[in-house]
Amino acid sequence: MKVNAYAAPAAGEPLAPTTIERRAVGPNDVLIEIEFAGICHSDIHTVNGDWGPQPFPVVPGHEIVGRVTEVGADVSRHSVGDRVGVGCMVNSCGECTNCRNGDEQYCAQGMVGTYAATDRDGTTTQGGYSTHVVVDADYVLTVPDGIDPAAAAPLLCAGITTYAPLRKWEAGPGKKVAVVGLGGLGHMAVKIAHALGAEVTVLSQSLKKQEDGLRLGADHYFATSDPGAFETLAGRFDLIVNTVSAKIDLDAYLGLLAVDGTLVNVGAPAEPLDVNVFSLIGGRRSFAGSMIGGIALTQEMLDFCAEHHIGAEVEVIPAEKVNEAYERVLASDVRYRFVIDASTLS
Ligand SMILES: [Zn+2]
Ligand SMILES: [Zn+2]
Repeated sequence: MKVNAYAAPAAGEPLAPTTIERRAVGPNDVLIEIEFAGICHSDIHTVNGDWGPQPFPVVPGHEIVGRVTEVGADVSRHSVGDRVGVGCMVNSCGECTNCRNGDEQYCAQGMVGTYAATDRDGTTTQGGYSTHVVVDADYVLTVPDGIDPAAAAPLLCAGITTYAPLRKWEAGPGKKVAVVGLGGLGHMAVKIAHALGAEVTVLSQSLKKQEDGLRLGADHYFATSDPGAFETLAGRFDLIVNTVSAKIDLDAYLGLLAVDGTLVNVGAPAEPLDVNVFSLIGGRRSFAGSMIGGIALTQEMLDFCAEHHIGAEVEVIPAEKVNEAYERVLASDVRYRFVIDASTLS
């Protein structure tokens, strides 16, 4: 079927309306009428060519929420009318150790990204800035009632990206968690860590968003531009989640960890980070990374967010404003996620 979409025709060029072909609904497929698609910083990196050559035209979007309008003969997980979500991956081998462990995002064959990736049938995937998408039912999440669908969309990337390390490193009561950066990822990390019962500190460049940070659930807020903050907070945290995709002084942040503490990067800076090994061995500290989460954990995150009434803070825009929204994301002028109203595409 031919459907309306917004695509980047070439690297660095503005997105423009177009039509794309969606595959016929196979036996294990779900056809989704998209309601909302979040704008993730990865979309911008991809279409700008920051992450290498791409199979243009590219329809970005991997924070998708919509309604099931058709299901294949073998689908039992989802029914017509269900509200569902699709995140950063739409396929994986399903057979390797990582897939079997529920870590499909680390599939040994490589997970299939929701857009600009080669699917297992050889076609190129196209993302959620579109009216419809056809996805294998095993990679489609249930969006529970109780989360506003627009606010749910960013949970499919920003939500799971922060939920996964918070769960893995056991953020909860009695744990001191710091979140570095209060953007799309950071604001989700604050909400989720707070709901998990941890004591949450935001480490942001300035105090500009302090009021927001405290409203979102942070207990403390420090400006990293103030060197005194690093003295005050030395050895304090059990877990630091770094959401910043730029070079940071890793040793300074590692110094904020308690013995056995972990600093986990979910931001992906293009350049290597330097680390003085003494920052690690001087406190049995760990430096780790984490990328989105498996399908089962993503469902757990959505259920958790519904139970705790957590959604992203969003600004809903019509599709024609997508290029303007990209500019504003790059200027950090968004609190905290743009979400495209996909009904403006039809
Ligand atoms: Zn993303
Ligand atoms: Zn696999």
